[in-house]
Amino acid sequence: FLWIGFNISDFQRSPHIALFPSAGMGHLTPFLRLAAMLSSRNCLITLITAKPTVSAAESTHISSFISTHPEIRHLEFQILPINATNPTTDDPFFIQFEAVSRSVHVLHPLLSSASPPLCAIFSDLVVASSTAPIADDLCIPNYIVSTTSAKFLCLIAYLPVLTSDSAKFNLGCTEVQIPGLSPLPITSIPPPFWNTNHLFTAHLITNARALPKAKGIIMNTFNWFEQETIDAVSNGGVLDSLPPILPIGPLKPFSFEKDQNQYLSWLDNQPAESVVYVSFGSRTAMSEDQIRELGIGLERSKHRFLWVLKSSKVDKEDSKDLKELLGNFFLERTSNQGIIVKRWVNQEEILAHPAIGGFINHCGWNSVSEAAWQGIPILAWPQHGDQRVNAGVVEKVGLGIWERGWGWGGEKLVKGVEIGERIGQLMEDEKLRSRARKVGEEAKKACGFGGSSEKALTGIIDMVTRN
Ligand code: UDP
Ligand code: UDP
Ligand code: UDP
Repeated sequence: FLWIGFNISDFQRSPHIALFPSAGMGHLTPFLRLAAMLSSRNCLITLITAKPTVSAAESTHISSFISTHPEIRHLEFQILPINATNPTTDDPFFIQFEAVSRSVHVLHPLLSSASPPLCAIFSDLVVASSTAPIADDLCIPNYIVSTTSAKFLCLIAYLPVLTSDSAKFNLGCTEVQIPGLSPLPITSIPPPFWNTNHLFTAHLITNARALPKAKGIIMNTFNWFEQETIDAVSNGGVLDSLPPILPIGPLKPFSFEKDQNQYLSWLDNQPAESVVYVSFGSRTAMSEDQIRELGIGLERSKHRFLWVLKSSKVDKEDSKDLKELLGNFFLERTSNQGIIVKRWVNQEEILAHPAIGGFINHCGWNSVSEAAWQGIPILAWPQHGDQRVNAGVVEKVGLGIWERGWGWGGEKLVKGVEIGERIGQLMEDEKLRSRARKVGEEAKKACGFGGSSEKALTGIIDMVTRN
């Protein structure tokens, strides 16, 4: 890798920042957005990515981003092979987190010879502990980018304390108390957190310990949206060792070529706010039984729907067709009511479409921030990881409803009748719709001129430039 492509005149006025996301679209997407935002504000950006990626979506998005943003440099490095089997999880994305972290040292010589020299590294929270020593050694300020809610970030930050005190943190408790925050119900704690040897847990604990070394934690949220949490962290109420948190969301999407797929022309022909959009993000596949029940629920609700269906966690392995999953009879019966796609869609474009009136979603944090921006009400159906804590944030701010009894993904089979009733509630509750609109207005205020997120971003660029 050679540091060519930037002009000398660029060096003099623009800070050079390296952005380093970890694995999965949920991590890559906010980094690409941040890269485009910083670049449009006159920063020189180098995007660091690890290869090979787990999903095809990641490699496709990296290539198209780089080709549509020729001003951004790309530093790609090869992950060192690790023993891919892990006794605590078979999740390819968690294993990739670990593999990326263990390979970070190969970046040391590349970053040290960066030209112009780096003013800052913005690294993913899940590589924080491996990037910190390099940044330290090279005297480059390191900022962490969190891809989750401020609330879940607090849980991660406090995890080393919690897991060291089994008297206060065990399955027999009803709540978990994080200083400064309202208590978290025990049912929102991701199940792997009860096992400190679980790869996901061990990895987060290690990275949480590195947080105090960072200059700041950049967050895809906004003050109004998570006020209580942001105030508590900012006042040192959660942990006094945490660096400042810098909420700059909802991160602004950048556009590729418009998607020409038929689902968009189908949406164009539907009445305003009449369609429920169903998607569980880039890496969640429900069981086939649950997929069938969800189909029944959509049909019974009688609402129009656009359903993005995944039957496998990794996109490359998703080979089952709709007939196999739902049967011809179902597809025929619902052909006038909705449309089902099994491919990557442009979610931003869908959520912005006037025909969309509600969103059934797992509460991946990017999806939440996109729905917040568009003011679209959510029926939260959290499945894994941070998603129950995120669903709590969505419910509290009034952006959506959440049926806690549905459990974690795969914990139980939620019946179609019940799903249908909840969809009715999502699509027919005017109060919910107007509150969601208000969330959208507040998101736009935050990102607009003089808004809290816009000011925070300007502040970050100033800090980095002054360094
Ligand atoms: N996404 C998309 N099209 C798809 C699936 C996902 O555009 O077909 C985007 C979605 O808009 C979001 C990201 O991929 O920006 C998924 O991140 P999120 O945090 O919502 O969930 P995850 O996939 O990490 O569970
Ligand atoms: N999972 C997921 N996204 C997450 C967290 C978990 O898709 O953010 C999946 C994970 O791969 C596994 C299941 O959910 O298939 C349960 O996850 P857990 O972390 O509990 O690990 P496991 O039970 O596989 O050891
Ligand atoms: N924007 C933002 N965050 C987002 C989406 C958009 O800051 O999540 C900003 C961005 O500056 C963009 C402008 O708002 O150029 C308008 O965005 P969009 O086209 O989505 O606006 P809408 O058509 O929804 O009003």
